[in-house]
Amino acid sequence: MPTLIEDYESGDPRRVLHAVWQTIGCRDPELLKPLVTTLPRLRSRTEGVELGGMIYLNSTHLDHAFRVIENYRDGLCWCMAYPDSLTYDPRKEQDRGHAEIRSTSTPGWEMTYECACTVCGQVFDVEQGDHHVTWWRWVPRGLKRRRSAAADVGGAA
Ligand SMILES: [Zn+2]
Repeated sequence: MPTLIEDYESGDPRRVLHAVWQTIGCRDPELLKPLVTTLPRLRSRTEGVELGGMIYLNSTHLDHAFRVIENYRDGLCWCMAYPDSLTYDPRKEQDRGHAEIRSTSTPGWEMTYECACTVCGQVFDVEQGDHHVTWWRWVPRGLKRRRSAAADVGGAA
């Protein structure tokens, strides 16, 4: 099976996007560590690859995957990826155990959520909107917290 690095460097849009979505959903240090060390190379090898995209440019998702790698490198909590992308569905994040939905407005196409990261306790106001596809805008309350600091206190909020 090709590694994510090989997929990023393949020049094949389908393989690059496969690697992108693997990275975006990933919280596995074993997968992320090699991406941190090769990040500058991945940036240059993916430059100019035509990724397409119907509603949102897929290059946006590539940029976001690189942000996920940078956040991991910099020791930021996983939840700090949320404000950088409109693709994180609070309900799916809750199903994965990544976030807890504390309250919502009246459910509908357009609604809001109050969510908390299950790792560091960071609270977010999430706005859900619908424009061809459903999107979610995550806005953190207060200051950024570091994953390592959260680990030091046993992950308590
Ligand atoms: Zn967090």
